[in-house]
Order: sequence, then structure tokens, then C-alpha cells
Amino acid sequence: MKILIINAGSSSLKYQLLDMTNEKLIAKGNCEKIGLSSPVISYKHDGKEEIFEGAKTHEEAIKKVLNILVDKKIGVIKSFDEIGAIGHRVVMGGWLFKESCLIDEEVTRKVEKLSDLAPLHNPANAMGIRACEKVMPNTPQVVIFDTAFHTTMPEKAYMYAIKYEDYEKFHVRRYGAHGTSHRFVTQELAKVLGKDVNKVKAITCHLGNGSSVSAIENGKSVDTSMGLTPLQGVVMGTRSGDLDPTVVQFLCSHKKQSVDEVLNYLNKECGLLGVSGVSSDHREVTEAAEKGNKRAKLALDLLAYSVKKYVGMYLAVLNGADAIVFTGGIGENSAEAREQILENMENLGIIIDKEKNANFKRGQIELISTKESKVKVYIIPTNEELMMARDTLNIVKNLKKSK
Ligand code: ADP
Repeated sequence: MKILIINAGSSSLKYQLLDMTNEKLIAKGNCEKIGLSSPVISYKHDGKEEIFEGAKTHEEAIKKVLNILVDKKIGVIKSFDEIGAIGHRVVMGGWLFKESCLIDEEVTRKVEKLSDLAPLHNPANAMGIRACEKVMPNTPQVVIFDTAFHTTMPEKAYMYAIKYEDYEKFHVRRYGAHGTSHRFVTQELAKVLGKDVNKVKAITCHLGNGSSVSAIENGKSVDTSMGLTPLQGVVMGTRSGDLDPTVVQFLCSHKKQSVDEVLNYLNKECGLLGVSGVSSDHREVTEAAEKGNKRAKLALDLLAYSVKKYVGMYLAVLNGADAIVFTGGIGENSAEAREQILENMENLGIIIDKEKNANFKRGQIELISTKESKVKVYIIPTNEELMMARDTLNIVKNLKKSK
């Protein structure tokens, strides 16, 4: 079966078409600047990339993508019927969704209702779902939530110590994110360890533009660094990560800005970008630091130190771990970041093999700890779209059986 994976943002719509008979990617691309000036659609297949005129609405974007996919000259499928199902990424499933599920009107309404908790993402995700329903009304659609994997966290991990009545009334708590990635690498880790996934105890570090660290026990998430929103946790590309909430009030008063403005600043102007003044891109900050830029070095130090602290916390939570996993753009590619995060942790059973870490092959699973290291350290490339396609396939398969 071929499955179309959709990740809709407010002005973008990323897509991937996968053939699930061999789990191979057939084509992918992005509809950018939807509804803005000079929108474009990129289309990558067979090692080539083409650019087309974009769309004014999400519905038009889906239509255009489908037409490209079936185009006689450059298309990769003959007709729309070849697409057996569509899988949609939704950022916030809140306390309502514990796993991926088939989409119906009630599910879409709940996704929209959860917009209160993810105002930047859920409305756009829901827009993508509604657009696909209009254009492909007979194709089953599945929703995959970034938060679902973390719904196994115990109360003591997801609660903030605020008044219980307010938690109950407003559902203010830790939800986490990147769940699909943490789940994917946990499953891959189980395979390389030769263990049942339900017995895996690990710390997974998804480090990209947005970053989060999770504690995994018996294959399930028991804690994660992101909170009510992705602002909490480790230092990221443009997000500050953890800080004393009073900092918000202090900045509001000194910068003469509203709470919304300061939160926007903490999300978009801080982290690597804010501290270094160079870039939010880890590679560029690393290059600047290597040339002697002190603020760039400081930004990298802050990021690595914040991840190290979460690793330490979760080693305590889990009472040790089988493995630590690095994934995401930084986790998979930056030997410097991995070394800096795990250096001087020998007494906690973590010894990184510096040579293996530096000479890793990109895009594949690599063991980078020494034989003596009690805790194994792996690089595991993530593949969120494949995880989403696997979920979609499983749900649609059961649907066909029950018919
Ligand atoms: P997103 O969170 O948007 O999915 P990615 O997971 O692709 O982002 O991660 C992007 C980050 O990964 C950027 O900071 C980028 O600099 C970093 N990155 C990508 N390739 C490398 C590399 N070769 N060396 C160091 N960092 C890299």
C-alpha cells in the first residue's frame, strides 16, 4: 500500500509518499508560503528536485500535490486510487489521544478544540485534515500525535506543582513533543539491542532545531523535557528552554513588552541564536566558535550543559539505562555536541569512544561508546514519517479486516 504523509503548518504543507511494501520513500516535498506572495511547491523524486507554482489555500495545495504525483511525465503513481491512506501529523493530542487513530468528524473537532493548548499548530494541522477530506473523501485518514507517546508519563512527571483545581480545570500540565521520533528510535534501539521493546530502558535525545530528551522505561515514555509547550526543556535553536517564570515578568517590565511578545521572543529569538548572536543553526554556531567567537562557544556550552543535566536527571529517574540515543539534525550529525554532552560521566557508567564518535557514518545506526561503558551510546537516525506511515498502515489494515 502507498501512504501519503502530511505535515500541515499555517503557511506550509510538507508531504511524503511512501510505498509500505518495502517502506521506501517514493517522493516528497513542501508547499511553502501558502496564501502568501510567491508561493512554491517543491517535489523531489528519483534524486531530482522540481519547483512549481504554489497554492493560495491548503485545499489547493493538496490538489496540486496530487496532480504532480499522477502527472504523466514526472508523476510517480498512475492514479489517486494508488494512495491507500493519508497520515496527518498533529502536534497536540492533549490528554484526549493516547495513540494514533482513524479520523472522523469527532476526532477533527477534538483536534480543533485542543488549539487552546497549541495555538500555532493544531489549527493548521486541522486545516490540512479538512483539506484532504475534501479532495480525497474516500481515502481513509489517520492522525498521529506528537504527544501520544508521552501519555504514559506518571502523574508525578507530568504535573506542575500548581493548585490541583487549576490543573483539573485548565489541563495545565506537561505534554511533551517529538513523541513520534522518541518512539521510532526506541523501537530501533530494541532491534539493535536484540531486546523486546517493552523491556527497553533508555534516554533518547532528539536534538534538532527543537530539542527534547525523554526517559524511556519498559519501552514507554516516563518523562520528557518539553512541557505544556515546546518552550520548556533544553536550550534549542531559538528557544531558551528552562527558565524561572519570573524572567517573563521581569522582561515584560524592562522591555516594556506584553506577555505574548516576551513569549514570542523566548520562542523565536533566544537559544543558540540569542546567545551567540550568530545563528540558530548549530553548524553555523560551531563554525563561529571554531573561529574564536566567544558568544558562539558560550551558546554551544549552554546547549550541551542543558542536555547533560537532563541525561543525569533521567539516569536518576530510571536508576541507570541500557542506552542513550542521539537523534535529530544535531544528535545525528554533531560529534562535537555528543562528546561535550557526555564527557566526564564515567562515574555514571557512560564512556564515549571519541574516535568512533568522530568517525561515524552518517545516516546509519552507530554504537559510539567503549566496551567498558555500562550504558551504551548510539546514534540512531530518526524517521518520523516512516513511523507515521507504519501507524497509518496498521490502522487501515485493521479497518479492512473488520469490514
Ligand atoms: P528540525 O528540528 O527543524 O527537524 P533538524 O532535526 O533537521 O531540524 O535539525 C536541524 C539542526 O541540525 C540545525 O541546528 C543544524 O545545524 C543541525 N545539523 C544538521 N546537520 C549538521 C551537521 N552536519 N553538523 C552539525 N549540526 C548539523
